[in-house]
Amino acid sequence: MAQPSIDVIQELGKALTPDQVATDSLSLETYGQDWTRFATPAPLAIVFPRSTEDVVAVVLCARTHGFALVPSGGRTGLSGGAVAANGEVVVSMDKLKAVGAVNVTDRSVTVGAGAITQSIQDAASQVGLFYPVDFASSGSSQIGGNIATNAGGINVIRYGMTRDWVAGLTVVTGKGEVMALNKGLMKNNTGLDFRHLFIGSEGILGFITEATLKLTAPPKNATVLVLGLSDMDAIMRVLERIQSTASLLAYEFFSELAVSKVVEHAGVARPFDTQTPFYALIEFENDSERIEAALFDAVEACMEEGWVIDAVMSQNVGQARALWRLREDISETLTRWTPYKNDISATVGNVPELLSRVDAVVHQHYPSWEVVWYGHIGDGNLHLNILKPEALDVAVFKARCGEVSKEIFEAIQLLGGSVSAEHGVGTLKAPYLGYTKTESEIEAMRAIKSIFDPDGILNPGKVFPLKQA
Ligand SMILES: Cc1cc2nc3c(=O)[nH]c(=O)nc-3n(C[C@H](O)[C@H](O)[C@H](O)COP(=O)(O)OP(=O)(O)OC[C@H]3O[C@@H](n4cnc5c(N)ncnc54)[C@H](O)[C@@H]3O)c2cc1C
Repeated sequence: MAQPSIDVIQELGKALTPDQVATDSLSLETYGQDWTRFATPAPLAIVFPRSTEDVVAVVLCARTHGFALVPSGGRTGLSGGAVAANGEVVVSMDKLKAVGAVNVTDRSVTVGAGAITQSIQDAASQVGLFYPVDFASSGSSQIGGNIATNAGGINVIRYGMTRDWVAGLTVVTGKGEVMALNKGLMKNNTGLDFRHLFIGSEGILGFITEATLKLTAPPKNATVLVLGLSDMDAIMRVLERIQSTASLLAYEFFSELAVSKVVEHAGVARPFDTQTPFYALIEFENDSERIEAALFDAVEACMEEGWVIDAVMSQNVGQARALWRLREDISETLTRWTPYKNDISATVGNVPELLSRVDAVVHQHYPSWEVVWYGHIGDGNLHLNILKPEALDVAVFKARCGEVSKEIFEAIQLLGGSVSAEHGVGTLKAPYLGYTKTESEIEAMRAIKSIFDPDGILNPGKVFPLKQA
């Protein structure tokens, strides 16, 4: 984008009020980056709209004066989608965080885009309902960011992704037009449903300013089972067996290295003394003695097969929470190693093959580096984390990891998998989008963007690979 020729800060102060515009160095540093910490933040200013109309005013100002905007939520994103490193204006949704009264008849709640995910879960729970999208960053991420990334998390196997819980959206497009999409309706077959274009669009089409979310009944007596497993193949065999026994809420996996890191650095207790190559954390609805007995039988059968080596089951909510920490504390714990992260997927049946191919690539290139695997394996979703050796400079480490990205993504492509399972494309995956989407799909995506954002002011440099000259 061309550099703006006017005093942008002054114009933004006129479009909003001067106290809604921040240019101090702490704000620029804080709001210019997401969780990835890979780019050096360098936004021009941060603005804090208080209403949908404020967002319209910012968009119109940007169109008139030719500057770029970066939609910003809780900045827990792991793909560099909310990064502002090139003099953009960051549009923070922090002041749009209202959570409306839960509508128990419709089983829905309408919230501002800046509402923290956990505050929505809490509001639902106060009236005996449940908002099921959940992950380790729920205490900081915002619903606008969740919708813009179509966030997944730990309950996808039972409840699906964020997309499945959005009944309505208010958006401001890159033209400055306000659209009320689907209006909370359960049934509305009136042609193309633009709501679904905005879900997962990573801020390239417009700003989500408000959302109506569906709610459901909470699961009964959610119980956690942690199993120590012999090998990767066992994870799938156990999934097949357990899935036919109980209604699963989650099926997560992690490696022994992941466990040893959270035990050492997050003070989490081991599930049992036995160390096994992999672990599965299973959450299920334990709503009758019959289910519990059937599950015990299934685990016993898996032990006889040699797939399960040890097991523990929570007896109360406190124990369930403690076991969940084995999985939920991994990402935060690994941050100290500035890990090279990759969030990839395949069909559930192809997961062992995907893990073995990618693991082989990584070990061939970096035989002595620590590689931590974990993920939402019941959804076919693996998180690869290569830990930076202490002595290695961050820039050198990133460059060396980048060298194998191509090989990793080739392996994924061969299996028909995805280079981004749930974290989005952002800046980090943009060069690799072509491993999952075809040329014509990417061209169609560009054409759709140009309808909603004709001046290209929204989140430039995100999602799309650079065009070949
Ligand atoms: C410890 C940890 C665990 C995590 N676990 C998971 C997990 O299990 N599953 C999962 O899916 N993700 C996970 N994440 C990633 C992250 O929390 C999600 O991607 C989340 O949805 C991002 O929300 P956010 O509000 O922080 O968005 P941000 O990081 O602020 O932004 C993400 C993207 O959305 C755009 N955006 C933000 N708000 C808006 C808006 N109002 N309108 C339009 N565009 C907008 C931004 O421009 C950016 O492209 C995890 C992250 C951490 C740090």
